[in-house]
This record gives sequence, structure tokens and C-alpha cells, in this order.
Amino acid sequence: MIVDFHTHIFPPAVVRARDRFLARDEGFKELYSNPRARLATAEDLLRSMDDSEVDISVVQGFGWSSHDLCRAHNDYLLEAAARSNGRLLAFCTLQPLAREAALGEAERVAAAGAAGLGELRPHTQGYSLASAEGELLSGISERLGLPLLFHVSEPVGHRYPGKSGLPMAEFYEFARDHPGCRIIGAHWGGGLPLYGVMPELRTELASTWFDTAASSLLYRDRIYEAAIEALGADRILFASDYPLLNQSAQLQTLRALEIDEDHRRAIAGANAAGLLRIGA
Ligand SMILES: [Zn+2]
Repeated sequence: MIVDFHTHIFPPAVVRARDRFLARDEGFKELYSNPRARLATAEDLLRSMDDSEVDISVVQGFGWSSHDLCRAHNDYLLEAAARSNGRLLAFCTLQPLAREAALGEAERVAAAGAAGLGELRPHTQGYSLASAEGELLSGISERLGLPLLFHVSEPVGHRYPGKSGLPMAEFYEFARDHPGCRIIGAHWGGGLPLYGVMPELRTELASTWFDTAASSLLYRDRIYEAAIEALGADRILFASDYPLLNQSAQLQTLRALEIDEDHRRAIAGANAAGLLRIGA
């Protein structure tokens, strides 16, 4: 089974009137003001999945600053997942600065079948994880059993739109301090798995996973072998960041790696199935 853990779809209203949303949200403007930055709908994604033989895609929300925009996007993700015959699983977004409203939204999306919460972008959305907002998110995650997926960026390397969002060290401290939550660091968690050579990290990050979204824009393919050796194949989740990158091409990279076949199967879908309790 192949699971793409990190894809993005937007409501047709956002795709059609991108300019209106660029004016409403700084984070959206940072990532999507370039007209070449593609926006896809659920139908586009399902076609890409057919072409690339991806069985299940996790559709991630966008970390809007406004609670109302998070909520409207969540409606679209949940509706797309509900009519997909199990091919799409929704991660919904929250604006934890909205406090009570965010708590209510978490209850609502959990009841409507959300598989998790993400892609959360704390700094872009205006909060830090070492705060009441971080505690609100961990409380929701533990109580409702929803995993949290964060956009995490590297402390080093080239600059690009969206490099802010959540520094690796802040993500690490949050994951270490909340072992009762299932947590996913997107984009290889800013490179954190490579620190798996420190003996304490395997224990501290026992309930933390890392997705490979946008991998080829950030790392050489050697990152897979390096992360497997440092932290273990059981923590790695295949992800493309569609439509930023092509699902087939990212999958081809995974298929071409000279790694153990059990590790390849784990990364391609078995780890995701365990984490999301698919088929359990
Ligand atoms: Zn991201």
C-alpha cells in the first residue's frame, strides 16, 4: 500500500480567486503569490493518484491566520475525504489563538472524521509552541486522539518562501515534552532525524514521525539512507507535498533507493497505516 502523507488541496473558491486570499492572509501570500505555485483541487489530486498508483493521500489543511478561513478549508477537506471512498484522509487546521473557538472546531472535525490536525505553521500563524497555544494543541491531540503535523524548517541552508514556520529546535522540545501525542514533523522535521545518532533521541522521539514532503527541493536522496541509519525506517513517512512536487517522481525516488525492501515498504505506507490505524 502506498500512502502519500502530505498533499495540499484547496476549495475551488480559493483556486479561482487566489488574489482575494493573497490579500487576506500573509502566510498564504508568502507561499502562493508566485503564480507558478500551483493550487490543486481534490479532483486534480485523485487524477494524480491514479497516474502514480498512490492508494491513499493525506490532504493537509493550510495554516491560515484566521479561524474562519481554517474552518471553511476544513469543510472542504472533510467533504473531499467523505466522498473519496477512503482514498483521501483529512488533516484539518486550527488557529489556536482563537482559544474556545479552536477547541470547538477540533471537536467538530474529530466528529466529522478528521484523521489528524495539520499542516500547522505556528510562527506563520502567530504563536509559538512553548506557550498556552502549544498546550491547547497537545491537550486536543491527547483528548481526541488526533495526531499533529507541523511544518518544520531547517536551521541551516538556502532560503525559500515558507522557510519560517517552526524552527527545528522548538519542534523537538515540543515533541520531547508531549510523549502522549502522536506528532509528525513535515519536511524531514528540519533535519531532526539525523540527530538520531544521539542515543537519547530514539526514546525522546518515540511517538514522533517525519514526512518526506518536498524532499528533493531540500536534500540529496541520500537523506533517506542517512535518516534510516540515524533514527530508523519506522519513523519515516513517504510524502510528496503535491502539487508542489509530482507524486510519481517522488515515488520513483523511493523505488530507486538501494535500501532494504522491508524499509521501503514501511516508508511507502506501512508506517502511515500503523500511525493512522488504517485497516485496524
Ligand atoms: Zn510544509
